[in-house]
Amino acid sequence: MGSRKKVHAFVRVRPTDDFAHEMIKYRDDNKTIDIHLKKDTRRGVVNNQQTDWSFKLDRVLHDASQDLVYETVAKDVVSQALNGFNGTIMCYGQTGAGKTYTMTGATENYKHRGILPRALQQVFRMIEERPTHAITVRVSYLEIYNESLFDLLSTLPYVGPSATPMTIVENPQGVFIKGLSVHLTSQEEDAFSLLFEGETNRIIASHTMNKNSSRSHCIFTIYVEARSRTLSDEKYVTSKINLVDLAGSERLGKSRSEGRVLKEATYINKSLSFLEQAIIALGDQKRDHIPFRQCKLTHALKDSLGGNCNMVLVTNIYGEAAQLEETLSSLRFASRMKLVTTEPAINEKYDAERMVKNLEKELALLKQELAIHDSLANRTLVNYDPMDEIQIAEINSQVRRYLEGTLEEIDIINLRQIQEVFNQFRMVLSQQEQEVESTLRRKYTLIDKNDYAAISAVQKAGLVDADGHLVGEPDGQGFGLGVAPFSVKPGKKSKSKKMFKEQVRPSTPPTKPVAFEDFKNERGSEINRIFKENKSILNERRKRASETTQRINAIKREIDMTKEALNLQKSLREKQGEYENKGLMIIDEEEFLLILKLKDLKKQYRTEHQDLRDLRAEVQYCQHLVDQCRHRLLTEFDIWYNESFFVPEDLQMALKPGGGIRPGMMPLNKIVSLGEDDQDRFGQLQQTTLPEGPDSVSFYNAKVKMEQKHNYVKTMMGLQQAHRK
Ligand code: ADP
Ligand code: MG
Repeated sequence: MGSRKKVHAFVRVRPTDDFAHEMIKYRDDNKTIDIHLKKDTRRGVVNNQQTDWSFKLDRVLHDASQDLVYETVAKDVVSQALNGFNGTIMCYGQTGAGKTYTMTGATENYKHRGILPRALQQVFRMIEERPTHAITVRVSYLEIYNESLFDLLSTLPYVGPSATPMTIVENPQGVFIKGLSVHLTSQEEDAFSLLFEGETNRIIASHTMNKNSSRSHCIFTIYVEARSRTLSDEKYVTSKINLVDLAGSERLGKSRSEGRVLKEATYINKSLSFLEQAIIALGDQKRDHIPFRQCKLTHALKDSLGGNCNMVLVTNIYGEAAQLEETLSSLRFASRMKLVTTEPAINEKYDAERMVKNLEKELALLKQELAIHDSLANRTLVNYDPMDEIQIAEINSQVRRYLEGTLEEIDIINLRQIQEVFNQFRMVLSQQEQEVESTLRRKYTLIDKNDYAAISAVQKAGLVDADGHLVGEPDGQGFGLGVAPFSVKPGKKSKSKKMFKEQVRPSTPPTKPVAFEDFKNERGSEINRIFKENKSILNERRKRASETTQRINAIKREIDMTKEALNLQKSLREKQGEYENKGLMIIDEEEFLLILKLKDLKKQYRTEHQDLRDLRAEVQYCQHLVDQCRHRLLTEFDIWYNESFFVPEDLQMALKPGGGIRPGMMPLNKIVSLGEDDQDRFGQLQQTTLPEGPDSVSFYNAKVKMEQKHNYVKTMMGLQQAHRK
């Protein structure tokens, strides 16, 4: 499989008493045949000066028995067919040279039977040897005469003559002849009957229809299909063995032929030369077009010629001097064919029904496996079937509640459910985007920023300046008409954010999470930067503190161990009796070293402890800074948010420079009070954007509220002062 092979070309010489020994010589290699022409016979035989030729083929079969011919020519091709390789064996040569004898053989003598009956025998023998496979055999017998197709088995009672002419059809499975009867044969004998039926029809047709049987091509096809009985494999292999008895290759001189003979000769010459062209093209890897359709012969054999199949050519020649011209021509054809390479490949197919069955089986097994896993993991029984509408609707509602913040988390059940959750997220998101856009469209005339014609029209009308801002509104705030920086595609988050910044104040404010992101990048960027900086310092100090603590613990452990070792030494010393020198205790070196070590450890312990104390103070201090910053960030955001989206018109003037009220001093509760839901959402926002741990949330919430109250009082005082002035 996959390796390239040459077409095998053999030559078989018909036995004769009049063998031209002087002209035809075989070499000892059994492959080479040399032809020598005498000078006088050369005249009128060939037009060039050449008198000697040498042809090297795969084997020269001289005086070869039918047995030997089969062994040499066909055996391998047939056995390969059982493995899924297509095979084609063709007999080529002039009329009377022994093509039919080689292919079919003498039907009246078993010993002289040809390749065809032997191939059928081999197929059935091999099937017997392979009880592991279910192998079916079908046969058909086609004759091509003057470019018309004939079914040589149509005379069988259950076939009947075809109403419509046969046609050659191509489909992904290969080429087949529509209208040609194909017969299932379960044993050798049935197959032989079919062969004889066909042979008889060949002879009868030559009489009744005035057909010259040597002018037609006959193709006997054995179709093999093998499936494993042991493996429930959906794969199976198919193959075809084409046994082709070609029409006589002799050239019929135009002068000698007329009428029917001329017509036959033309068809034969054409089809044989098309056959040669097709096979040569197949052997040329650079060629992508193979001229199969030029004639019926090559078209019918399209998937069995060269290419991916095993191909064998038997060239039948006469050994007589009188036929030397045709012999030369046949040998030339053979040596050209021998050069052609093919790449035999298995015809593997898939049984869709069996595949579905196997997959269903596997699916059921996997479900069982999952159920076992679930029970081992103490999970409640999970359903792995596709979701129905109700389940999908439930997930949709979960996603909505999750987005609103009323659902804390979505429990994971299985992969299918996770996929559906993502699906629903996408749906909800796109719905929201559409809603936002349609709300905007109801309020404003949105002009695509890339729609230059529309923009210039608006500019001409004097409504907006070149940047898309409304004329007379330096900060881009105004009412009525807006140019949305949408670029056709609605809903890109970054773009809709931009719209809130650049454009007129929308009647629907952005959600707090969105606005908070904006705020952090714009107005609150500085404080946000400081906040983040402080936080990273805090984290760094915390990390150091924890490392120091670990070190201290390690030192402590070592101190304990050293103390224990010392105690041991001491008790040993006491047991052995103490040595004293002028009131000084004498200790050994080991004990001495332990004492030194303990001293050193205690020193380390003290230093580290000091460090830790310092670090803790720093942590506390940084924590305080971070808290302050967070507080400021949230308070200022709140103020900015309300000023930007909720300040009533009559207060706008007061907010302007010189208007008495400093921005950031607006009483939030007075201007607008957040609904309960908004408060909740904001609480969540703090939790997600400022991940200090859930514990801190209520703390910050309380702080914010207090600050709001504080601001309110301050602002009221400010307002009163402004009024008094
Ligand atoms: P083709 O089919 O090429 O026209 P045939 O196979 O019909 O030729 O052979 C013509 C005659 O020669 C037949 O009577 C056949 O029995 C005989 N013949 C051909 N080859 C051999 C052979 N190898 N041994 C014996 N008889 C042969
Ligand atoms: Mg014949």
